[in-house]
Amino acid sequence: MKIETKCLHEGYHPKNTEPRVVPIVQSTTYVYDSTNDIADVFNDPTKSLIYSRFENPTVMAVEEKIAALEGGVAAMATSSGQAASLCSILNLCSAGDSFISTGTIYGGTVNLFAVTLKKLGIECIFVDADASEEEIQKAFKPNTKAVFGETLANPALSVLDIEKFAKLAHQNNVPLIVDNTFPTPILCRPIEHGADIVVHSTSKYMDGHAVQVGGVIIDSGNFDWTNGKFPEFTEPDESYHGTVYTKDYGKLAYIVKARMQLMRDFGCYPSANSAFLLNLGLETLAVRMKQYCENAMKVAEYLEASDKVVSVNYPGLKSNKYYDLAKKYMPDGCSGVITFTIKGGKENAVKFMDSLNLASNVVHVADIRTCVLHPASSTHRQLTDEQLKAAGIDGGMIRFSCGLENIDDIIEDIAQALEKI
Ligand code: PLP
Repeated sequence: MKIETKCLHEGYHPKNTEPRVVPIVQSTTYVYDSTNDIADVFNDPTKSLIYSRFENPTVMAVEEKIAALEGGVAAMATSSGQAASLCSILNLCSAGDSFISTGTIYGGTVNLFAVTLKKLGIECIFVDADASEEEIQKAFKPNTKAVFGETLANPALSVLDIEKFAKLAHQNNVPLIVDNTFPTPILCRPIEHGADIVVHSTSKYMDGHAVQVGGVIIDSGNFDWTNGKFPEFTEPDESYHGTVYTKDYGKLAYIVKARMQLMRDFGCYPSANSAFLLNLGLETLAVRMKQYCENAMKVAEYLEASDKVVSVNYPGLKSNKYYDLAKKYMPDGCSGVITFTIKGGKENAVKFMDSLNLASNVVHVADIRTCVLHPASSTHRQLTDEQLKAAGIDGGMIRFSCGLENIDDIIEDIAQALEKI
């Protein structure tokens, strides 16, 4: 199946007289004929269902669909993108371990890695995504357990050289985890470029309609957990009747371990209702992504030609420093998110934002409706002008998330707002 077809048909295969659309199984629990049947399921949780804190048929249909879209062997959904990033690391690192992450990633993930995981005794070493292989190599330590990066960073829009990071990770016997939220598997499939694990905030394009907060972790099944660095995969798990994940589950080891250790204990699993809504978004993902890219390219070109704009950051533009990497990893387009800087700093940016009629001012991004955010007044509000500069955020910078309205209406809205400054 081609990817457009997978969006519609993967994950749910109804049999004779069953519902055409994946049903919402609104049940916390499942019935067994005998105590022995329950014991069997506990012995091998992949055989049937135990409890909706970590598995549910509606959610699992979506997990299977997303695994197929990314080209992985299995997936585990989470109740947010943050939970997906957290579990992707905790499945590999314990107190005393470290991992490497590129610095240009979503601010919430920076806080999770630099502050919260630090409190749990896990060290994150940040590296510049554009650094040389030699420089990145210096960040590896004997206790390094993973490398993390964002395909298309929010909001920096830098493009990750996935093959470079996969090569370095593998030379050091650890997996590469890639947050692929902005491109989605329609525009980039990191596993095809050597990534081992992919995470998403499904709250963004995958859902697309701003109706559910969610996340997902997908495993490629390609990483060799028996290389000596990951004893939790190869030694009996006393918390789960002595299971040895690599021996008992083979290529499914990473996801079964995440489900039976982390999801069982944390319970950050999505509801069946949320998964149902996410599935509706996924069904049209391929069509939507193409249109987001087309609209964003036109907006980026329009803004670049405006004398009221200092600079436009969109990797699809030839002038962009990531243009070549974008062409390699996202040949069909770079999603709908653009950042640009208005002449006249914060005052003019605010005036522009407040003059928009069609685009709404929201903290969200990657929605079906065009939306904007002024980082200096919102997500980075607490920073002084100097701190903003150090964080690479100009007071005049705006994050513009192109929706699926007619492009003429989007550009007309931008034009009239630029006129006001
Ligand atoms: N990863 C990226 C790239 C994001 O942009 C976000 C949120 O904006 C997250 C992860 C966190 O996702 P969520 O808001 O679903 O927890």
